[in-house]
Amino acid sequence: MLEAKGYAAPSAREALAPYSFERRSPGESDVLIDIQFCGICHSDIHQARDEWGGSIFPMVPGHEIAGVVTAVGAGVTRFKVGDRVGVGCFVDSCGHCPFCESGDDHYCEEGIVQTYNSVGKDGQPTMGGYSDKIVVDENYVLRIPDNLPLDAAAPLLCAGITLYSPLRYWKAGPGKKVAIIGLGGLGHMGVKLAHAMGAEVTVLSQSLSKKEDGLRLGADHFYATSDPETFKKLARSFDLIINTVSAPMDWNQYLTLLKVEGTMAVVGVPEKQIPIGAFSLVVGRRSLAGSMIGSIKETQEMLDFCGKHDIISDIETIAISQVNEAYERILKSDVRYRFVIDMATLKAAA
Ligand code: NAP
Ligand code: ZN
Repeated sequence: MLEAKGYAAPSAREALAPYSFERRSPGESDVLIDIQFCGICHSDIHQARDEWGGSIFPMVPGHEIAGVVTAVGAGVTRFKVGDRVGVGCFVDSCGHCPFCESGDDHYCEEGIVQTYNSVGKDGQPTMGGYSDKIVVDENYVLRIPDNLPLDAAAPLLCAGITLYSPLRYWKAGPGKKVAIIGLGGLGHMGVKLAHAMGAEVTVLSQSLSKKEDGLRLGADHFYATSDPETFKKLARSFDLIINTVSAPMDWNQYLTLLKVEGTMAVVGVPEKQIPIGAFSLVVGRRSLAGSMIGSIKETQEMLDFCGKHDIISDIETIAISQVNEAYERILKSDVRYRFVIDMATLKAAA
């Protein structure tokens, strides 16, 4: 076993604190990664506070991992020591169901093993990226393009792929009007990616306070949803709306912004069930759909797309000791636009 250090939530009601634990030694097909940076996703907060139920404690969160390979198992063929790599939201799947076989492994029939807050095939709880190192099967490790800095590339591993996948699936591109609700970690990646795909992009934010940023990130239009005029003006406007919000909202009102046959793809996961009237969908043959991260194959495709288009996340780098403070700021929508933990601050504290 390997000694690992990190920060863990001891329970749903306690702050994250330093934590030592063990990781498996690299097996035949494993890669050992020295973690240099880890992004903070809102899902880390949902799970560390057990808002979705079933959380496993103590929990080392983190699924936007960027680092460098320091050792490989004897059977590893795709990576070598020194490679710049990433790990996203899952580290294993069954490998033989129709979804794994067709390249949609994130929808594995037996369920994915999440990077943290899951039980691995060895029966041990998985521990995530707020730590100094991680051991992952090479089939779940991604290559980070050389031109992307590791700190600002880390958020691509979750925020990036979570927006890339629905934008591709619903064919965002020239001639398509796409709206992104919520300019947070996921939302700001959505703006950059949809813009790079050639779509006309609108941000729907609670206020106009992030308007300048939104336009700089690539949006063509920016509206405040606190202004009732926004809903009158934008009625029946969008082919695709991606909803990144994790708080209660008036879903029926937002659905009126879809064109006939438009789709709202839900990626935000609020704690409570979502209330929707049937008329919001039947009038205009509108669709309400969902999307969860992306496959390993598509995640690599997204990273290569970002490498080609020089797309990275706008980040605020923090020391690991600031993680609890960062959680509070995310809850106030006070993040520009992703917190990334510099893991050197964990290693220096030893
Ligand atoms: P985030 O950085 O907190 O961004 C969410 C944004 O939503 C905020 O910046 C804010 O944008 C807006 N918002 C917040 N409260 C709101 C409210 N009361 N009404 C309207 N808008 C509000 O979070 P994130 O990391 O992007 O994650 C967003 C959600 O996606 C979370 O639920 C997370 O668990 C989920 N998620 C899902 C997947 C997936 O695979 N489907 C993957 C990762 C994360 P404005 O300030 O612009 O209004
Ligand atoms: Zn995430």
